[in-house]
Amino acid sequence: MRVVMKFGGTSVGSIQALQQVINILTKARQQENHEVVVVVSAMSGVTDRLLTAAHRAEAGDEDVAHEARVEIEEKHANASLQFLGDTPTRNELMSQITALLNEFEALCHGIHVLGELTPRALDVIGGLGERMNAPQVAAVLTNAGIAAQAVDATELIVTDNRFGSSVPLIDETAQKSQTRLQPLLAQSIVPVVTGYIGATLDGIPTTLGRGGSDYSATIIGRALAADEVWIWTDVNGVMTTDPRIVPEAHPIAHLSYAEISELSYFGAKVLHSQAIRPARRVGMPVRILNTFEPDHPGTLITGDAQDGNKTVKAVSAIKNMSLVTVAGPGMVGIPGVAGRTFTAVARTDTSVMMISQASSEQAICFVVPTQDVGRVIRSVETEMIREIERRDLDRIRSEDNTVVLAVVGSGMKGTPGVSGRLFGALGRNKINVIAIAQGSSEFNISLVIAQGDAERAVQVIHKEFELEKP
Ligand code: ADP
Ligand code: ASP
Ligand code: MG
Repeated sequence: MRVVMKFGGTSVGSIQALQQVINILTKARQQENHEVVVVVSAMSGVTDRLLTAAHRAEAGDEDVAHEARVEIEEKHANASLQFLGDTPTRNELMSQITALLNEFEALCHGIHVLGELTPRALDVIGGLGERMNAPQVAAVLTNAGIAAQAVDATELIVTDNRFGSSVPLIDETAQKSQTRLQPLLAQSIVPVVTGYIGATLDGIPTTLGRGGSDYSATIIGRALAADEVWIWTDVNGVMTTDPRIVPEAHPIAHLSYAEISELSYFGAKVLHSQAIRPARRVGMPVRILNTFEPDHPGTLITGDAQDGNKTVKAVSAIKNMSLVTVAGPGMVGIPGVAGRTFTAVARTDTSVMMISQASSEQAICFVVPTQDVGRVIRSVETEMIREIERRDLDRIRSEDNTVVLAVVGSGMKGTPGVSGRLFGALGRNKINVIAIAQGSSEFNISLVIAQGDAERAVQVIHKEFELEKP
Protein backbone atom coordinates (compact mmCIF):
# COMPACT_ATOMS: atom_id res chain seq x y z
CA MET A 1 0.00 0.00 0.00
CA ARG A 2 1.21 3.55 -0.68
CA VAL A 3 0.79 5.64 2.47
CA VAL A 4 1.54 9.29 3.17
CA MET A 5 2.40 9.64 6.87
CA LYS A 6 2.39 13.03 8.51
CA PHE A 7 4.11 13.52 11.86
CA GLY A 8 3.02 16.61 13.82
CA GLY A 9 5.12 18.88 16.03
CA THR A 10 5.01 16.80 19.20
CA SER A 11 5.58 13.62 17.17
CA VAL A 12 8.99 14.96 16.11
CA GLY A 13 9.56 17.32 19.04
CA SER A 14 11.57 15.15 21.41
CA ILE A 15 14.05 12.30 21.46
CA GLN A 16 11.37 9.89 22.67
CA ALA A 17 9.05 10.97 19.86
CA LEU A 18 11.71 10.57 17.17
CA GLN A 19 12.41 7.06 18.44
CA GLN A 20 8.70 6.30 18.00
CA VAL A 21 8.87 7.63 14.43
CA ILE A 22 11.73 5.26 13.69
CA ASN A 23 9.74 2.33 15.15
CA ILE A 24 6.60 3.23 13.20
CA LEU A 25 8.46 3.47 9.90
CA THR A 26 10.44 0.32 10.49
CA LYS A 27 7.22 -1.60 11.04
CA ALA A 28 5.42 0.00 8.10
CA ARG A 29 8.24 -0.80 5.71
CA GLN A 30 9.64 -4.08 6.92
CA GLN A 31 6.57 -5.84 8.31
CA GLU A 32 3.75 -4.27 6.33
CA ASN A 33 5.69 -3.57 3.16
CA HIS A 34 4.15 -0.15 2.69
CA GLU A 35 5.61 2.41 0.32
CA VAL A 36 5.86 5.50 2.52
CA VAL A 37 6.10 9.26 1.97
CA VAL A 38 6.71 11.18 5.19
CA VAL A 39 5.51 14.75 5.80
CA VAL A 40 6.91 16.52 8.86
CA SER A 41 6.02 19.59 10.88
CA ALA A 42 8.56 21.74 12.65
CA MET A 43 9.68 20.46 16.07
CA SER A 44 7.01 21.45 18.61
CA GLY A 45 7.08 25.09 19.64
CA VAL A 46 9.43 26.17 16.85
CA THR A 47 6.86 27.77 14.52
CA ASP A 48 5.42 29.79 17.40
CA ARG A 49 8.88 31.05 18.35
CA LEU A 50 9.69 32.06 14.77
CA LEU A 51 6.45 33.92 14.19
CA THR A 52 6.50 35.66 17.56
CA ALA A 53 10.06 36.84 16.90
CA ALA A 54 9.03 38.30 13.54
CA HIS A 55 6.15 40.22 15.13
CA ARG A 56 8.37 41.47 17.92
CA ALA A 57 10.99 42.62 15.43
CA GLU A 58 8.31 44.65 13.67
CA ALA A 59 7.36 46.17 17.02
CA GLY A 60 10.98 47.25 17.56
CA ASP A 61 12.42 44.39 19.63
CA GLU A 62 15.12 42.43 17.83
CA ASP A 63 16.43 40.55 20.86
CA VAL A 64 13.60 38.04 20.80
CA ALA A 65 14.84 36.79 17.43
CA HIS A 66 18.29 36.13 18.81
CA GLU A 67 16.92 34.32 21.87
CA ALA A 68 14.68 32.20 19.63
CA ARG A 69 17.61 31.37 17.41
CA VAL A 70 19.72 30.13 20.28
CA GLU A 71 16.92 27.99 21.67
CA ILE A 72 15.93 26.48 18.31
CA GLU A 73 19.54 25.69 17.46
CA GLU A 74 19.96 23.93 20.79
CA LYS A 75 16.79 21.91 20.33
CA HIS A 76 18.01 20.51 17.02
CA ALA A 77 21.56 20.09 18.27
CA ASN A 78 20.38 17.94 21.19
CA ALA A 79 18.09 15.76 19.12
CA SER A 80 20.61 15.20 16.37
CA LEU A 81 23.41 14.44 18.83
CA GLN A 82 21.29 11.76 20.45
CA PHE A 83 20.62 9.94 17.18
CA LEU A 84 23.63 10.73 15.03
CA GLY A 85 26.42 11.23 17.56
CA ASP A 86 29.28 13.63 16.88
CA THR A 87 29.63 12.58 13.24
CA PRO A 88 30.21 14.27 9.88
CA THR A 89 26.54 13.61 9.05
CA ARG A 90 25.48 15.60 12.07
CA ASN A 91 27.96 18.38 11.35
CA GLU A 92 26.57 18.70 7.86
CA LEU A 93 23.00 18.76 9.19
CA MET A 94 23.82 21.36 11.82
CA SER A 95 25.51 23.62 9.28
CA GLN A 96 22.32 23.46 7.16
CA ILE A 97 20.25 24.40 10.24
CA THR A 98 22.68 27.17 11.17
CA ALA A 99 22.40 28.63 7.67
CA LEU A 100 18.60 28.72 7.97
CA LEU A 101 18.84 30.38 11.37
CA ASN A 102 21.25 32.97 9.95
CA GLU A 103 18.63 33.68 7.31
CA PHE A 104 16.03 34.00 10.08
CA GLU A 105 18.05 36.54 12.03
CA ALA A 106 18.84 38.51 8.89
CA LEU A 107 15.14 38.63 7.98
CA CYS A 108 14.20 39.77 11.48
CA HIS A 109 16.89 42.42 11.32
CA GLY A 110 15.41 43.71 8.05
CA ILE A 111 11.93 43.76 9.55
CA HIS A 112 13.25 45.64 12.58
CA VAL A 113 14.97 48.26 10.42
CA LEU A 114 11.97 48.76 8.14
CA GLY A 115 9.45 48.49 10.95
CA GLU A 116 7.29 46.51 8.57
CA LEU A 117 6.36 42.85 8.39
CA THR A 118 4.60 41.79 5.20
CA PRO A 119 2.51 38.59 4.94
CA ARG A 120 5.00 37.37 2.35
CA ALA A 121 7.95 37.77 4.75
CA LEU A 122 5.96 36.14 7.52
CA ASP A 123 5.48 33.04 5.36
CA VAL A 124 9.20 32.79 4.65
CA ILE A 125 9.96 32.98 8.36
CA GLY A 126 7.12 30.68 9.43
CA GLY A 127 8.26 27.92 7.09
CA LEU A 128 11.83 27.79 8.39
CA GLY A 129 10.95 25.32 11.16
CA GLU A 130 9.89 22.66 8.67
CA ARG A 131 12.93 23.36 6.50
CA MET A 132 15.19 22.69 9.50
CA ASN A 133 13.34 19.62 10.63
CA ALA A 134 12.91 17.66 7.38
CA PRO A 135 16.69 17.19 6.91
CA GLN A 136 16.97 16.22 10.58
CA VAL A 137 14.25 13.56 10.35
CA ALA A 138 15.70 12.27 7.06
CA ALA A 139 19.16 11.94 8.65
CA VAL A 140 17.76 10.21 11.74
CA LEU A 141 15.83 7.71 9.62
CA THR A 142 18.76 7.00 7.30
CA ASN A 143 20.98 6.44 10.30
CA ALA A 144 18.44 3.94 11.65
CA GLY A 145 18.62 1.94 8.42
CA ILE A 146 15.67 3.50 6.59
CA ALA A 147 17.02 5.24 3.49
CA ALA A 148 15.42 8.70 3.44
CA GLN A 149 15.85 12.02 1.68
CA ALA A 150 14.59 15.47 2.69
CA VAL A 151 12.46 17.22 0.07
CA ASP A 152 11.43 20.87 0.25
CA ALA A 153 7.69 21.15 -0.48
CA THR A 154 8.36 24.36 -2.42
CA GLU A 155 9.45 21.91 -5.13
CA LEU A 156 6.15 20.01 -4.94
CA ILE A 157 3.18 22.05 -3.80
CA VAL A 158 2.18 24.91 -6.09
CA THR A 159 -0.18 27.43 -4.50
CA ASP A 160 -1.85 30.75 -5.17
CA ASN A 161 -0.34 33.81 -3.50
CA ARG A 162 -2.64 34.26 -0.54
CA PHE A 163 0.18 34.42 1.95
CA GLY A 164 -0.76 32.96 5.31
CA SER A 165 -3.44 30.62 4.00
CA SER A 166 -2.64 29.76 0.43
CA VAL A 167 -4.60 27.31 -1.70
CA PRO A 168 -2.96 24.53 -3.73
CA LEU A 169 -3.20 24.32 -7.52
CA ILE A 170 -4.07 20.68 -8.07
CA ASP A 171 -2.76 19.86 -11.53
CA GLU A 172 0.57 21.68 -11.17
CA THR A 173 1.10 20.07 -7.77
CA ALA A 174 0.34 16.58 -9.07
CA GLN A 175 2.76 16.96 -11.91
CA LYS A 176 5.62 18.31 -9.79
CA SER A 177 5.08 15.83 -6.96
CA GLN A 178 5.07 12.85 -9.28
CA THR A 179 8.16 13.99 -11.15
CA ARG A 180 10.12 14.62 -7.97
CA LEU A 181 8.92 11.81 -5.70
CA GLN A 182 8.31 8.80 -7.96
CA PRO A 183 12.03 8.25 -8.67
CA LEU A 184 12.77 8.24 -4.92
CA LEU A 185 9.98 5.76 -4.25
CA ALA A 186 11.21 3.57 -7.09
CA GLN A 187 14.58 3.35 -5.31
CA SER A 188 12.90 2.55 -1.96
CA ILE A 189 13.97 5.91 -0.54
CA VAL A 190 11.51 7.51 1.88
CA PRO A 191 10.95 11.16 0.89
CA VAL A 192 10.72 13.36 4.01
CA VAL A 193 8.73 16.37 2.88
CA THR A 194 8.43 19.69 4.73
CA GLY A 195 4.83 20.22 5.85
CA TYR A 196 3.05 23.58 5.97
CA ILE A 197 4.81 25.24 3.02
CA GLY A 198 4.50 25.55 -0.73
CA ALA A 199 5.44 28.08 -3.40
CA THR A 200 3.65 30.07 -6.09
CA LEU A 201 4.17 29.36 -9.78
CA ASP A 202 6.94 31.99 -9.64
CA GLY A 203 8.63 30.15 -6.77
CA ILE A 204 7.71 32.59 -4.00
CA PRO A 205 7.36 30.70 -0.68
CA THR A 206 3.89 30.45 0.87
CA THR A 207 2.25 28.64 3.79
CA LEU A 208 -1.01 26.74 4.01
CA GLY A 209 -2.01 28.34 7.33
CA ARG A 210 -1.32 27.28 10.91
CA GLY A 211 -1.53 23.55 11.39
CA GLY A 212 -1.08 23.24 7.63
CA SER A 213 1.10 20.12 7.61
CA ASP A 214 -2.08 18.02 7.73
CA TYR A 215 -3.14 19.72 4.51
CA SER A 216 0.31 19.11 2.96
CA ALA A 217 -0.14 15.39 3.64
CA THR A 218 -3.52 15.10 1.93
CA ILE A 219 -2.42 17.31 -0.98
CA ILE A 220 0.58 15.06 -1.59
CA GLY A 221 -1.54 11.95 -0.99
CA ARG A 222 -3.90 13.03 -3.71
CA ALA A 223 -1.07 14.05 -6.04
CA LEU A 224 0.55 10.61 -5.73
CA ALA A 225 -2.74 8.65 -5.73
CA ALA A 226 -1.85 7.25 -2.29
CA ASP A 227 -3.99 4.47 -0.86
CA GLU A 228 -4.25 6.18 2.54
CA VAL A 229 -3.03 9.19 4.54
CA TRP A 230 -2.08 8.64 8.18
CA ILE A 231 -1.90 11.69 10.45
CA TRP A 232 0.29 10.83 13.43
CA THR A 233 -0.34 13.11 16.42
CA ASP A 234 -0.39 13.06 20.23
CA VAL A 235 -3.93 11.76 20.90
CA ASN A 236 -5.74 8.52 20.02
CA GLY A 237 -7.67 10.00 17.10
CA VAL A 238 -10.44 12.54 16.72
CA MET A 239 -12.13 12.76 20.10
CA THR A 240 -15.72 13.55 21.06
CA THR A 241 -14.40 17.00 22.00
CA ASP A 242 -11.14 18.72 22.90
CA PRO A 243 -9.72 16.53 25.70
CA ARG A 244 -8.27 19.62 27.37
CA ILE A 245 -11.85 20.83 27.99
CA VAL A 246 -13.51 17.50 28.80
CA PRO A 247 -11.13 14.90 30.25
CA GLU A 248 -13.71 12.13 29.62
CA ALA A 249 -13.59 12.80 25.85
CA HIS A 250 -12.70 9.66 23.96
CA PRO A 251 -11.67 8.78 20.43
CA ILE A 252 -14.28 8.21 17.71
CA ALA A 253 -13.58 5.08 15.67
CA HIS A 254 -15.15 6.20 12.40
CA LEU A 255 -16.12 9.57 10.97
CA SER A 256 -17.32 10.62 7.52
CA TYR A 257 -15.59 13.30 5.45
CA ALA A 258 -18.61 15.53 6.03
CA GLU A 259 -18.46 15.12 9.80
CA ILE A 260 -14.73 15.80 10.13
CA SER A 261 -14.96 18.78 7.83
CA GLU A 262 -17.57 20.37 10.12
CA LEU A 263 -15.52 19.58 13.22
CA SER A 264 -12.23 20.84 11.87
CA TYR A 265 -13.81 23.91 10.30
CA PHE A 266 -15.31 24.77 13.68
CA GLY A 267 -12.11 24.53 15.64
CA ALA A 268 -11.18 20.89 16.34
CA LYS A 269 -7.45 21.49 16.17
CA VAL A 270 -6.60 17.86 15.55
CA LEU A 271 -6.98 18.39 11.78
CA HIS A 272 -6.42 21.54 9.67
CA SER A 273 -9.76 22.94 8.50
CA GLN A 274 -9.10 22.33 4.78
CA ALA A 275 -7.11 19.11 5.07
CA ILE A 276 -9.92 16.71 4.37
CA ARG A 277 -10.81 18.27 1.01
CA PRO A 278 -8.20 16.61 -1.23
CA ALA A 279 -8.98 13.23 0.37
CA ARG A 280 -12.71 13.69 -0.01
CA ARG A 281 -12.37 14.57 -3.69
CA VAL A 282 -10.85 11.20 -4.50
CA GLY A 283 -12.30 9.08 -1.69
CA MET A 284 -8.89 8.49 -0.09
CA PRO A 285 -9.17 7.17 3.51
CA VAL A 286 -7.48 9.23 6.24
CA ARG A 287 -6.52 7.88 9.66
CA ILE A 288 -5.69 9.90 12.77
CA LEU A 289 -3.23 7.93 14.89
CA ASN A 290 -1.22 8.36 18.07
CA THR A 291 2.57 8.36 17.67
CA PHE A 292 2.90 7.48 21.34
CA GLU A 293 0.40 4.60 21.22
CA PRO A 294 0.82 3.32 17.67
CA ASP A 295 -1.21 0.14 18.17
CA HIS A 296 -4.37 2.08 19.02
CA PRO A 297 -6.68 2.01 15.96
CA GLY A 298 -7.36 5.78 16.16
CA THR A 299 -9.99 7.32 13.87
CA LEU A 300 -10.72 6.21 10.32
CA ILE A 301 -12.24 8.86 8.06
CA THR A 302 -14.04 7.71 4.90
CA GLY A 303 -17.04 8.59 2.76
CA ASP A 304 -19.65 6.87 4.86
CA ALA A 305 -19.98 6.97 8.62
CA GLN A 306 -21.04 4.11 10.79
CA ASP A 307 -23.23 5.74 13.36
CA GLY A 308 -23.95 3.02 15.86
CA ASN A 309 -26.81 4.49 17.81
CA LYS A 310 -25.32 7.95 18.24
CA THR A 311 -27.15 11.02 17.04
CA VAL A 312 -24.56 13.55 18.17
CA LYS A 313 -21.00 12.30 17.81
CA ALA A 314 -18.83 15.28 18.73
CA VAL A 315 -18.77 18.94 19.65
CA SER A 316 -16.17 21.56 18.81
CA ALA A 317 -15.70 25.24 19.52
CA ILE A 318 -14.01 28.04 17.67
CA LYS A 319 -13.02 31.07 19.70
CA ASN A 320 -12.38 34.77 19.06
CA MET A 321 -15.38 35.29 16.82
CA SER A 322 -17.57 38.37 16.33
CA LEU A 323 -21.27 38.38 15.56
CA VAL A 324 -22.13 41.18 13.14
CA THR A 325 -25.72 42.44 12.90
CA VAL A 326 -27.21 44.34 9.98
CA ALA A 327 -30.58 45.69 11.09
CA GLY A 328 -32.84 48.69 10.99
CA PRO A 329 -36.42 49.89 10.74
CA GLY A 330 -36.40 50.05 6.93
CA MET A 331 -34.64 46.73 6.44
CA VAL A 332 -37.61 44.87 4.90
CA GLY A 333 -37.94 47.47 2.18
CA ILE A 334 -34.35 47.44 1.00
CA PRO A 335 -33.97 45.23 -2.08
CA GLY A 336 -31.04 42.84 -2.19
CA VAL A 337 -29.84 43.72 1.26
CA ALA A 338 -28.47 40.25 1.99
CA GLY A 339 -26.71 40.05 -1.36
CA ARG A 340 -25.15 43.48 -0.97
CA THR A 341 -24.08 42.75 2.61
CA PHE A 342 -22.26 39.55 1.69
CA THR A 343 -20.73 41.04 -1.43
CA ALA A 344 -19.29 43.77 0.78
CA VAL A 345 -17.95 41.15 3.17
CA ALA A 346 -16.43 39.20 0.29
CA ARG A 347 -14.52 42.29 -0.83
CA THR A 348 -12.54 42.07 2.42
CA ASP A 349 -11.56 38.47 1.65
CA THR A 350 -12.99 37.33 4.96
CA SER A 351 -14.71 33.99 5.28
CA VAL A 352 -18.06 33.98 7.02
CA MET A 353 -18.25 31.21 9.60
CA MET A 354 -22.01 31.18 10.04
CA ILE A 355 -25.14 33.07 8.93
CA SER A 356 -28.45 33.39 10.70
CA GLN A 357 -31.48 35.44 9.71
CA ALA A 358 -34.34 36.03 12.09
CA SER A 359 -37.68 34.99 10.60
CA SER A 360 -38.98 38.55 10.91
CA GLU A 361 -36.42 39.55 8.24
CA GLN A 362 -35.61 42.53 10.41
CA ALA A 363 -31.98 41.54 10.85
CA ILE A 364 -29.17 39.56 9.29
CA CYS A 365 -26.51 38.19 11.60
CA PHE A 366 -23.26 36.58 10.63
CA VAL A 367 -20.06 35.51 12.31
CA VAL A 368 -16.52 36.42 11.27
CA PRO A 369 -13.18 36.12 13.07
CA THR A 370 -12.67 39.08 15.42
CA GLN A 371 -9.37 39.92 13.75
CA ASP A 372 -11.30 40.74 10.54
CA VAL A 373 -14.37 42.41 12.02
CA GLY A 374 -13.14 46.01 11.72
CA ARG A 375 -12.56 45.69 7.99
CA VAL A 376 -15.86 43.86 7.53
CA ILE A 377 -17.89 46.55 9.30
CA ARG A 378 -16.20 49.34 7.32
CA SER A 379 -16.91 47.57 4.06
CA VAL A 380 -20.59 46.89 4.84
CA GLU A 381 -21.10 50.45 6.07
CA THR A 382 -19.56 51.84 2.90
CA GLU A 383 -21.90 49.67 0.83
CA MET A 384 -24.96 50.71 2.86
CA ILE A 385 -24.01 54.35 3.39
CA ARG A 386 -27.16 55.80 1.84
CA GLU A 387 -29.50 53.50 3.78
CA ILE A 388 -27.67 54.32 7.00
CA GLU A 389 -27.89 58.05 6.32
CA ARG A 390 -31.62 57.69 5.62
CA ARG A 391 -31.94 55.79 8.90
CA ASP A 392 -33.41 52.78 7.13
CA LEU A 393 -30.51 50.86 8.54
CA ASP A 394 -28.78 51.25 11.90
CA ARG A 395 -25.01 51.52 12.13
CA ILE A 396 -23.55 48.03 11.78
CA ARG A 397 -23.09 46.45 15.19
CA SER A 398 -20.80 43.68 16.33
CA GLU A 399 -20.65 41.57 19.44
CA ASP A 400 -17.11 40.45 20.13
CA ASN A 401 -15.83 37.77 22.50
CA THR A 402 -18.12 35.14 21.13
CA VAL A 403 -17.60 31.50 20.24
CA VAL A 404 -19.22 29.28 17.63
CA LEU A 405 -20.02 25.79 18.87
CA ALA A 406 -20.63 23.03 16.36
CA VAL A 407 -22.61 19.99 17.40
CA VAL A 408 -21.97 17.31 14.80
CA GLY A 409 -23.22 13.84 13.88
CA SER A 410 -24.78 12.41 10.74
CA GLY A 411 -27.25 10.48 12.93
CA MET A 412 -28.93 13.80 13.74
CA LYS A 413 -30.44 13.78 10.28
CA GLY A 414 -34.05 12.80 10.55
CA THR A 415 -33.90 12.27 14.32
CA PRO A 416 -36.48 14.52 15.94
CA GLY A 417 -35.83 16.28 19.20
CA VAL A 418 -32.08 16.75 18.99
CA SER A 419 -32.24 20.53 19.06
CA GLY A 420 -34.85 20.42 21.80
CA ARG A 421 -32.50 18.41 23.96
CA LEU A 422 -29.58 20.63 23.09
CA PHE A 423 -31.25 23.92 23.93
CA GLY A 424 -33.01 22.41 26.94
CA ALA A 425 -29.68 21.39 28.43
CA LEU A 426 -28.10 24.78 27.75
CA GLY A 427 -31.14 26.57 29.20
CA ARG A 428 -31.12 24.51 32.39
CA ASN A 429 -27.50 25.50 32.84
CA LYS A 430 -28.30 29.17 32.23
CA ILE A 431 -26.15 29.38 29.10
CA ASN A 432 -27.51 32.05 26.81
CA VAL A 433 -27.60 31.23 23.08
CA ILE A 434 -27.03 34.37 21.01
CA ALA A 435 -27.65 32.94 17.51
CA ILE A 436 -28.30 29.59 15.86
CA ALA A 437 -27.81 28.06 12.44
CA GLN A 438 -28.50 24.57 11.26
CA GLY A 439 -26.61 23.47 8.19
CA SER A 440 -28.74 22.17 5.35
CA SER A 441 -26.89 18.90 5.74
CA GLU A 442 -28.76 18.42 9.05
CA PHE A 443 -25.74 16.96 10.71
CA ASN A 444 -24.41 20.13 12.17
CA ILE A 445 -26.08 22.62 14.48
CA SER A 446 -23.96 25.72 15.06
CA LEU A 447 -24.61 28.17 17.82
CA VAL A 448 -23.06 31.38 19.00
CA ILE A 449 -22.50 31.94 22.71
CA ALA A 450 -20.40 34.26 24.86
CA GLN A 451 -16.75 33.27 25.09
CA GLY A 452 -16.98 33.07 28.89
CA ASP A 453 -19.60 30.30 28.62
CA ALA A 454 -17.78 28.25 26.01
CA GLU A 455 -16.06 25.60 28.08
CA ARG A 456 -19.08 25.02 30.30
CA ALA A 457 -21.33 24.74 27.24
CA VAL A 458 -19.06 22.10 25.70
CA GLN A 459 -19.13 20.17 28.98
CA VAL A 460 -22.93 20.41 29.23
CA ILE A 461 -23.46 19.21 25.66
CA HIS A 462 -20.95 16.40 26.06
CA LYS A 463 -22.84 15.19 29.12
CA GLU A 464 -26.34 15.67 27.69
CA PHE A 465 -25.61 13.45 24.70
CA GLU A 466 -23.63 10.98 26.83
CA LEU A 467 -20.59 11.34 24.63
CA GLU A 468 -18.40 10.04 27.45
CA LYS A 469 -19.97 6.60 26.86
CA PRO A 470 -18.15 4.64 24.15
P1 ADP B 1 0.03 18.07 15.75
O1 ADP B 1 1.18 18.89 16.20
O2 ADP B 1 0.28 16.60 15.81
O3 ADP B 1 -0.52 18.52 14.44
P2 ADP B 1 -2.06 19.50 17.11
O4 ADP B 1 -1.69 20.09 18.43
O5 ADP B 1 -2.14 20.39 15.94
O6 ADP B 1 -1.09 18.26 16.86
O7 ADP B 1 -3.47 18.75 17.24
C1 ADP B 1 -3.66 17.75 18.22
C2 ADP B 1 -4.33 18.36 19.45
O8 ADP B 1 -5.63 18.80 19.09
C3 ADP B 1 -4.59 17.39 20.58
O9 ADP B 1 -3.47 17.26 21.41
C4 ADP B 1 -5.78 18.01 21.30
O10 ADP B 1 -5.36 18.76 22.42
C5 ADP B 1 -6.38 18.99 20.29
N1 ADP B 1 -7.79 18.74 19.99
C6 ADP B 1 -8.76 19.69 19.94
N2 ADP B 1 -9.95 19.14 19.64
C7 ADP B 1 -9.75 17.82 19.48
C8 ADP B 1 -10.59 16.72 19.14
N3 ADP B 1 -11.91 16.87 18.92
N4 ADP B 1 -10.02 15.51 19.04
C9 ADP B 1 -8.71 15.34 19.26
N5 ADP B 1 -7.87 16.33 19.61
C10 ADP B 1 -8.37 17.56 19.71
N1 ASP C 1 4.42 23.98 12.08
C1 ASP C 1 3.21 24.54 11.56
C2 ASP C 1 2.40 25.15 12.68
O1 ASP C 1 2.79 25.07 13.84
C3 ASP C 1 2.41 23.57 10.75
C4 ASP C 1 1.91 22.37 11.50
O2 ASP C 1 2.33 22.08 12.61
O3 ASP C 1 1.04 21.68 10.95
O4 ASP C 1 1.38 25.73 12.43
MG1 MG D 1 -1.69 20.21 13.92
